[in-house]
Amino acid sequence: MSDTRFLDWPFFDDRHRALARELDAWAAVHVRRAHGDDVDADCRALVRALGAAGWLRHAVAGREHGGAGDAIDTRSICLVRETLARHSGLADFAFAMQGLGSGAISLHGSPAQKARWLPQVARGEAIAAFALSEPDAGSDVAALACSARIEGDHAVIDGTKTWISNGGIADVYVVFVRTGESQGARGISAFIVEADAPGFEVAERIAVIAPHPLARLRFTGCRVPLANRIGDAGQGFKVAMRTLDVFRTSVAAAALGFARRALDEALARATSRRMFGQVLADFQLTQAKLAQMATTIDSAALLTYRAAWRRDGGHNVTREAAMAKMVATEGAQQVIDAAVQMWGGLGVVSEQPVERLYREIRSLRIYEGATEVQQLIIARELLKDAAPKPA
Ligand SMILES: Cc1cc2nc3c(=O)[nH]c(=O)nc-3n(C[C@H](O)[C@H](O)[C@H](O)COP(=O)(O)OP(=O)(O)OC[C@H]3O[C@@H](n4cnc5c(N)ncnc54)[C@H](O)[C@@H]3O)c2cc1C
Repeated sequence: MSDTRFLDWPFFDDRHRALARELDAWAAVHVRRAHGDDVDADCRALVRALGAAGWLRHAVAGREHGGAGDAIDTRSICLVRETLARHSGLADFAFAMQGLGSGAISLHGSPAQKARWLPQVARGEAIAAFALSEPDAGSDVAALACSARIEGDHAVIDGTKTWISNGGIADVYVVFVRTGESQGARGISAFIVEADAPGFEVAERIAVIAPHPLARLRFTGCRVPLANRIGDAGQGFKVAMRTLDVFRTSVAAAALGFARRALDEALARATSRRMFGQVLADFQLTQAKLAQMATTIDSAALLTYRAAWRRDGGHNVTREAAMAKMVATEGAQQVIDAAVQMWGGLGVVSEQPVERLYREIRSLRIYEGATEVQQLIIARELLKDAAPKPA
């Protein structure tokens, strides 16, 4: 396990410290950083293994539905993601998507929806996905156009979703569609769509820089029972944002895991690589880099666990989660780049740990709100507070 001093911080309870240590020991035995050529098979195997070992219980809410607690515990989710990301980007992905994909059900699902899906997701027997983005609605998510019309006791969905993680291997998709109760964000509803729903298809698989299951989805007169709607009609945007409030902080935690692994790799190389009659770590230029990497990691960790701790305390964390995601993902990119540099030519050899990290970190600065979107959120919150109050 790398530096664990942060676990002494007051954001955590003893159960969190135990969770981080136990998962780290498990991952050291059961998780490999490099995976095979079949990313779907690897991902399915990781979901099953994480479920069988009980780690996915932290991804869902409600003990009666297989969850580790009555509510989602953001600190646990963050610690699991940070720990898994240190061992394997794909293991972190497998855990995170079970949580993000079922998050709307945990937070806003009916008792029947929770009973049907959460136990299977927690056991790793059903794979979940979260389908919000569209070709013309990414950062501007309220512009989404995929729509549903109501016919009797069914919703009929038409349109496209893209960049959907677990697309192609998921059993259950939470899909956000325009239902037209109002303009913009107020006219959206969330529906559970099962992979075998008539009119649903995976239109295209998308290959990305750090491979994981990803797809464009097509809905052509796709009929789902109205009972599959999560929350009230027209409330889908709120459902999506509440889900993202939890998982945006956890993206920061995953970035932290990648950064910590990069620092470990950098330290290992710097203290062993001989040149000019000494080792790389003897040079002050290297020491300055290492100091910057460690400080970047601690700053990101403080912001990440502050956001998680405040959310678990029942506070709104829109500003804190945005700060954590921005600083942790941008900082991790710099830390990993510095590690690649220290490894020299070996740093860019395919499947070397730092080369893999270099690819794995990149998407985190884009998904669940690109860095620019986080900046706008932080500024909006600041300006809201700064606006002159009426006399
Ligand atoms: C690997 C991966 C996995 C994903 N998984 C999922 C998933 O499971 N479910 C899902 O629904 N979506 C998923 N997404 C989609 C992701 O959330 C979107 O890619 C993201 O929201 C950005 O949307 P976009 O790609 O359309 O980029 P655009 O919206 O076109 O934005 C492009 C760039 O413009 C800049 N930008 C954005 N807004 C502003 C602004 N206001 N001012 C200045 N610059 C700005 C940012 O740099 C941004 O990166 C995933 C994406 C990736 C890459």
